Amino acid sequence: MTEVLVIGAGLAGLAAAVSAAESGARVTLCEKRSEIGGSTVLSAGLSAFAGTEEQAAAGIADSTELLRHDLLETGLHRNDPALVDAYCAHQLDTYRWLRGLGVEYGKVHAASGQSVPRSHPTDTRVLVRTLLERALSRGAVFLPDTRAHRLIVEDGAVRGVLTEEGERLRADAVVLASGGFSRNPELLTRFAPQMERALRGGAAGSTGDGLLMAWKAGAGVIDTPYVKGTFGIHPDPDGAEGGTGVLAIYKGAIAVNRNGRRFVDESLPYKAVGDACLAQPDGIAFQVFDAQVMDRADPSVPIYDFAARVGNGLLLRARTLDELAGLIGVPADALRETVAAYNAAIAGRAPDEQGRTTLSGGVGTPVPITTAPFYAHPSTAVVLATYCGLTIDPSMRVLDVFGEVIDGLYAAGELVGGLHGAGYVTGTSIGKAAIFGRVAGLAASGAREERP
Ligand SMILES: Cc1cc2nc3c(=O)[nH]c(=O)nc-3n(C[C@H](O)[C@H](O)[C@H](O)COP(=O)(O)OP(=O)(O)OC[C@H]3O[C@@H](n4cnc5c(N)ncnc54)[C@H](O)[C@@H]3O)c2cc1C
Repeated sequence: MTEVLVIGAGLAGLAAAVSAAESGARVTLCEKRSEIGGSTVLSAGLSAFAGTEEQAAAGIADSTELLRHDLLETGLHRNDPALVDAYCAHQLDTYRWLRGLGVEYGKVHAASGQSVPRSHPTDTRVLVRTLLERALSRGAVFLPDTRAHRLIVEDGAVRGVLTEEGERLRADAVVLASGGFSRNPELLTRFAPQMERALRGGAAGSTGDGLLMAWKAGAGVIDTPYVKGTFGIHPDPDGAEGGTGVLAIYKGAIAVNRNGRRFVDESLPYKAVGDACLAQPDGIAFQVFDAQVMDRADPSVPIYDFAARVGNGLLLRARTLDELAGLIGVPADALRETVAAYNAAIAGRAPDEQGRTTLSGGVGTPVPITTAPFYAHPSTAVVLATYCGLTIDPSMRVLDVFGEVIDGLYAAGELVGGLHGAGYVTGTSIGKAAIFGRVAGLAASGAREERP
């Protein structure tokens, strides 16, 4: 009999499969699609770890304590402190474990919610392939094109799953790692109506299957009010957009609505700017900037690769602000006034109407918008991940609506809630998938040994 059954071959499921197999369990990993990787391989691949070799090499002083502080502050202390502690307790071990398996990280950079640069980029396709090979080398069985449909529950304990084809896969413990629900419109409407006007990203397999299966078994769900969209994606749903959009605002652009007026302090985290954008007419904004900001573009970082977007028609260019206003359909006099007021505020002649004092998150000096050509990037918010989900304890055991353990059921990755609280620190979704996936695999294999 299979001892640990893992559902979903994204980062969380693969980490769980490897750690369970490494601890001696017989592991079966099932994935509903033919390809592995889920949202993990669509992502920007940034992991939030603290105290790493890459940070030390760049002279960045970081610590688990500072990471803990950032998680709680960004989450407005609505996080489950036990899960924040679990993330912090296992993050460095998990980073070293991944490095030990051959995973490599690039140059660390700063992002939303991070007091110091803490985003560790990696090639996520290599990451998932490395983990799958490791799991297979440790004897795990991989079943692609196998969709878990229902949990098998016996005497209140989860003992496997029934697949969509009607096969019974029995196990002592099941680890649900089937990702979020950003591609399930019905669940989004139910749990995150605040995102109704946002676009939907994430992998095609992110349809909330694990959430529904666990829900039927009595699992609790937490953090649904905090599902947020990421600002910067082009609003044309049929356009060339696939990833995260651009954040010219963090290089000096302003964001204006259809009336040509600013509506937010553009230096705020991109989720907060996303919320503000969705509240504007048609849920649309335009990132407006000039040649000086274009000079700060960085083709190696997708969110700062502005020039490529002129070529594919996503970024509009004009010789004057009036011409730009015509291209994006906002009143020219309003846009002119808005830019003039912003430039006056930067020059110190008046306080900024939106309270902006920096480029991004307290760092960098805003620049005036004066130099032709001028650019506008139509932008809205996209739900890339659903940060809420199942209630779990620090061993990744799923808790029911009364906070009691559901025997035999574990969960990790995007489908669990409680870690982020009211706000998301960049890199903690990939981080959560790796760290909690690994812990879930260890705990699920340990649970097997505890049974008579
Ligand atoms: C464009 C984009 C950029 C992002 N950038 C970042 C970033 O830089 N940093 C960060 O921290 N986060 C980022 N995220 C979020 C992050 O990628 C995800 O939250 C994380 O990868 C989720 O990992 P996971 O293993 O839980 O789920 P996934 O990687 O989605 O894997 C879940 C797997 O389960 C499978 N599955 C689903 N249902 C079933 C079923 N019933 N039976 C069997 N298999 C099933 C799916 O097909 C899928 O393969 C980004 C997301 C997107 C879309």
